[in-house]
Amino acid sequence: MSFWHENWSNMGVLADVFAEVEPPAPISLAEAAEANFSIPGMSDAMIAQMRIWYDSRLKSDSDERLWAPSPDGRFTVKSAFSLLSNQVPACPLARHYWAKFILKKMAILLWRFLNNAIPVDVRIQDCTISLASRCLCCVHRNIESMEHLFLRGEIAVFLWDRLSPLFGIHRTNYSDLRKFILAWFNVAHRKSQMGKMATLFPRAIMWEIWSERNRRRHDESPSSMAVILYKVLQWVHNINPLLRTSNHSPGMLHHILRVCKLSPTPVRRKPPLVLRWSRPPPGFCILNTDGASSSQGAAGGGVIRDD
Ligand SMILES: [Zn+2]
Repeated sequence: MSFWHENWSNMGVLADVFAEVEPPAPISLAEAAEANFSIPGMSDAMIAQMRIWYDSRLKSDSDERLWAPSPDGRFTVKSAFSLLSNQVPACPLARHYWAKFILKKMAILLWRFLNNAIPVDVRIQDCTISLASRCLCCVHRNIESMEHLFLRGEIAVFLWDRLSPLFGIHRTNYSDLRKFILAWFNVAHRKSQMGKMATLFPRAIMWEIWSERNRRRHDESPSSMAVILYKVLQWVHNINPLLRTSNHSPGMLHHILRVCKLSPTPVRRKPPLVLRWSRPPPGFCILNTDGASSSQGAAGGGVIRDD
């Protein structure tokens, strides 16, 4: 246990508590205790304080490791999350790739891509594992890098060039896959129907490229380009009901769905119903009531009429 960097005393991390003291060479708590806390750079008052804290910990009823970021020394996921989120800058694409309507496996694949964590051959070679690379997406084999597999390989070119022009994006304008994906995410506001569609398509395309690559890698019979395209459109079709279209949906969205032969799910709206008060039969009254309530209280009322 580090003397300077762990909360052994339950008074906080000493490197923070005594920020004015330049921590010397790393020292463990056991070594510090062995030296009776006579550590170079510490004043006599600090040394005396250390001895008191150490003794109080020895006399403590519990023998537990203490978690510095929580005031009571107990570990919580919340405190760990806030500790890490303060240290790591937020990814500007996070809102896109964690969109609720996207399947988790697709979201995670994109997260892995953005973090360079998809095990294509070149990535494995980066880990100093000797490997002869040969992609499985092209007739004339190439080196399998992330950019090749997902942007320039034959499957990728086939899928992107058929689907991205529908969104006004052209693959040939991009040499960087990251910027290409960003262009998709910038087609429209992420919460709009077009924005959701432009978030969904690249995810389904990347998922099917990766699935097909793995199928071929594991010696399963390769799917034809038409079948891979069909699978991409099936994903869009299956998730599309969540993105309901209406007469007010952009014409571009209808066009995309029509070209991809995807049936839009129309929004059913109830026809408006006109309600009118009608006179009761002679000798009868009508009582109309209404009420409302909140956490603060409730109220109600009524009107009795016979004409
Ligand atoms: Zn290839």
